[in-house]
Amino acid sequence: MYELKITDQFAAAHQLQGIEGGCENLHGHNWKIEVTVAGSKLGDDGLLIDFREIKQGTKNILDALDHKFLNDLESFKTMEPSSENIARHIFESLSRELNTEHVKISRVTAWESDTACATYWRD
Ligand SMILES: [Zn+2]
Repeated sequence: MYELKITDQFAAAHQLQGIEGGCENLHGHNWKIEVTVAGSKLGDDGLLIDFREIKQGTKNILDALDHKFLNDLESFKTMEPSSENIARHIFESLSRELNTEHVKISRVTAWESDTACATYWRD
């Protein structure tokens, strides 16, 4: 198998319900996002997928989150905008856009600080 990984980031605010200790107050993070793509078969060009395609697809999704109050967005009307669900949202959006027979988004990690992150993937 081959794995490619790219990173990007965005800044936004959120408010989490029912969590004590400050997270239920409005606050922001600079989220660092890692997107991992996996596949077993390379193209004739020796690439699994062009890095630029992953970067552009990720950027399009993050642009819609950047400098927003995440709780207000349609994507988070039915789920809390936690780092877990942010990773899931990016995973699902990017999978719809980039997955092919040979290449799949394998996991998305959302770092909400230097020491804490959440990863979403599908078994
Ligand atoms: Zn937070």
